[in-house]
Amino acid sequence: MKSIRLALLVSLALSVSACCGKRAADRAFEAAFVSLTDAVPDAILEIRYFSTYNFVGERIDGYREPVALLTREAAEALRAVSDDVIAQGYRLKVYDAYRPQCAVDHFVRWAADTADVRMKAFFYPDLDKGVLFEQEYIMAKSGHTRGSTVDLTLFDMATEKELDMGGTFDWFGPESHPAFCGDPEAGEYAGGVSPAGRTITPEQFANRMILRRAMVRHGFRALDSEWWHFTLVDEPYKDTYFNYPVKPLHRRSSRR
Ligand SMILES: [Zn+2]
Repeated sequence: MKSIRLALLVSLALSVSACCGKRAADRAFEAAFVSLTDAVPDAILEIRYFSTYNFVGERIDGYREPVALLTREAAEALRAVSDDVIAQGYRLKVYDAYRPQCAVDHFVRWAADTADVRMKAFFYPDLDKGVLFEQEYIMAKSGHTRGSTVDLTLFDMATEKELDMGGTFDWFGPESHPAFCGDPEAGEYAGGVSPAGRTITPEQFANRMILRRAMVRHGFRALDSEWWHFTLVDEPYKDTYFNYPVKPLHRRSSRR
């Protein structure tokens, strides 16, 4: 009887410490991150992984609310980008920011299921789903999980539409590379056609450059394969892959 009571006490103590440990991790996350709506109020959010309009075709694990979270440092830099592009007549439109590890795990599970091609026509019509791992469209780790990476485009305040970038967010193909049809470092259009026979116009290339220049000017670096993806050069958590859900950062909701 005594040993049973002792075992109960030990297990209670362990569960209390596990619980407090988890809450401490949540508190640390909540202190390090901010909501983009608070930090960059002019940004427009379209959180695709909260919706079914994404390459998977369903809401992604870990996206509990259509909000965007970023580290304080990344959000501060993005605020400067936002002010910069507003002066040029645009607003930032954000598709994704911090992404929990469980969401990346969901992408990996989806990529392994080659029979599930329900969104192929919209995001990867030219690719066989079987090459997504091999060609690194889907990876087991994402920079987004470190909290200082953002996927975004520009919204034109004059036309009240997204700026025409000649392709959509999360398009799997060489047409999404910043170097497609030009030299992004020099900002020069060169033309050309992808293996699938696609191209972008000088204006679409120039539009990608407006976004890229503004992001780079305020401390972000671009990715070679996606014109919409940028990471803060001086990111504060270079080796930490978080798993806090995407939801408002209120203390009370952390118990959900
Ligand atoms: Zn991205």
